[in-house]
Amino acid sequence: MDVRWDHTKGRRMNQEGLEALEAAAECVARARYVVALTGAALSVESGIPPFRGPNGLWTKHGEPPLNRFQRFLANPRRAWGERLNPTGPMRELWEALGSARPNPGHLALVDLEDMGVLRALITQNVDNLHRLAGSRRLLEIHGNATLIRCLGCVTRFRSDAIDFASLPPRCPRCGGLLKSDTVSFGEPIPPDVLEGCFEEAARADCMIVVGTSATVYPAAQFPLDVHQRGGDLIEVNPYPSELTAVSRHTLQGPAGEVLPRLAELIRSRLS
Ligand SMILES: [Zn+2]
Repeated sequence: MDVRWDHTKGRRMNQEGLEALEAAAECVARARYVVALTGAALSVESGIPPFRGPNGLWTKHGEPPLNRFQRFLANPRRAWGERLNPTGPMRELWEALGSARPNPGHLALVDLEDMGVLRALITQNVDNLHRLAGSRRLLEIHGNATLIRCLGCVTRFRSDAIDFASLPPRCPRCGGLLKSDTVSFGEPIPPDVLEGCFEEAARADCMIVVGTSATVYPAAQFPLDVHQRGGDLIEVNPYPSELTAVSRHTLQGPAGEVLPRLAELIRSRLS
């Protein structure tokens, strides 16, 4: 069943949409272990430009090199110089990251965690908005653009804890090479995060997939695993995606409007 927002009626849902929302809430409330997976469309609702798609940064400016991580390793001093003085699309992205705030979709996921319903949140977004919203059991599979990670001991630091007087900066703990926590093309996903994601996805009997068509591996594997084990997928996306066919319920609309309503219906079933 699809929820479709009827824009001719001032964003009120039609009857079919309301029934799908109720059914999805029932499904989530009944589940034993619920995990959410979020992606770029949730960030777009907070004003973060997407990478892909018609207005994507990469569409407009070209994709970054697939060996970006290897380039970083070859000349970390130059890479840090570019990072600290961004130009072009990177400047546009950093300005958007600096001013973006969590939207009602982020906050509804925190509500679900507070209710004890949502057990873990896996995000492909690097914009820090889930942390700002207050999510606690959070796995940032592509890293966090506001953090810096040591390639030696994998400790993560806030940038104000790092001395940038000489580039590249070095880890205060082990002296290792520091890099943005954002996972670059060509860079392996840090094992601590990746293991956590696989563990949570393996426990889930219900996954709420928000704002992503889940086509980028390894994140794309998690909803398919849940589905193949007989679990339920709840899809919240502005448009149909490759997941729509395998989802138990598809709630089509902006996450900032769908998720708060879903969370309220789930809350009413718990009390
Ligand atoms: Zn270190």
